[in-house]
Amino acid sequence: MHEMSIACSVLEALEQEARRFPGGRILRVGLRVGELAGVDPESLEFCWEAAVRGTRWEPVSLEIERCARRQRCQSCGHEFPPAGDYACPACGSATTVFAGGDELELAHLEVEQDEPDWARTQSLERK
Ligand SMILES: [Zn+2]
Repeated sequence: MHEMSIACSVLEALEQEARRFPGGRILRVGLRVGELAGVDPESLEFCWEAAVRGTRWEPVSLEIERCARRQRCQSCGHEFPPAGDYACPACGSATTVFAGGDELELAHLEVEQDEPDWARTQSLERK
């Protein structure tokens, strides 16, 4: 199952990231999923629960952030969700390029450190 292998990749990435936070406890992992990524979020959540069951990652919740398809205008830089045609709604230019909507990446981790009342969200810029 496609979503199961994605859940396993997320788990592997989590293992790696966890080494950067010794003594920290990962509470939540955020995943950015483009609408063109071919991933069914419900199925992925289901697979995630199955993948972490019985492991030390069981309490970690998976948050899926859906991203719509986007085009970027090469004339004015405006980014927009294409509706019907790909012309820029800001300046009317027809020269626009694909700008996103097929992402499948870790977006953030929420880590709780040993110190009480000290939780932070770690932003991860990666492809
Ligand atoms: Zn434009």
